[in-house]
Amino acid sequence: MTSVAATPRPGTARSLIAESRDVERAVQLILLGARLQVLESETNLSYERLLKLYKEVTGRSPSKGQLPFSTDYFLQWQPNIHASLFENIRQSLLKAVALDDIEAVMKAYRLYDEQMRACGLQPLLSFTRAWRLSRFMDAGMLVRARCTQCGGHFVADPYVNHRHYVCGLCKPPARAGKGRAQGALRADD
Ligand SMILES: [Zn+2]
Repeated sequence: MTSVAATPRPGTARSLIAESRDVERAVQLILLGARLQVLESETNLSYERLLKLYKEVTGRSPSKGQLPFSTDYFLQWQPNIHASLFENIRQSLLKAVALDDIEAVMKAYRLYDEQMRACGLQPLLSFTRAWRLSRFMDAGMLVRARCTQCGGHFVADPYVNHRHYVCGLCKPPARAGKGRAQGALRADD
């Protein structure tokens, strides 16, 4: 077996290395706040193993149920601004550094989180949401559009009219109100 993706036979040195890498990755993901579904998708560890790890790292049981997020979430005004910031970081990382898909998501999320905190803002996007977003982007279910007014790139619907696209910062929705425009990034909903 030469394929990197192939699961090594249990009991071999290679399987031990692959497994410890998976454990390390799972712990990193848990610390970032990933839900169990993310861990299942991004490692080859069994559900039981992941559950045990999750409890060990966080001291509590993972929340149950399906991931509730649809693409709509990322198109709402405030989440869209956060999603776009995260996605722009991820895209520039993917261009600049050789990273696994999941490594890029993790690194981009840490940078997004740092940037938010440096500005004194709450990171509205959770890690699981950021992961979900990257999946939607990679599948073409969401795209990036360039704002015709500020030139920034924003997460948009695949059917967006690129020639007339204006982002949520240049044209906040009416409900945001004039006073709110200044604190546009405050996660107060
Ligand atoms: Zn704009």
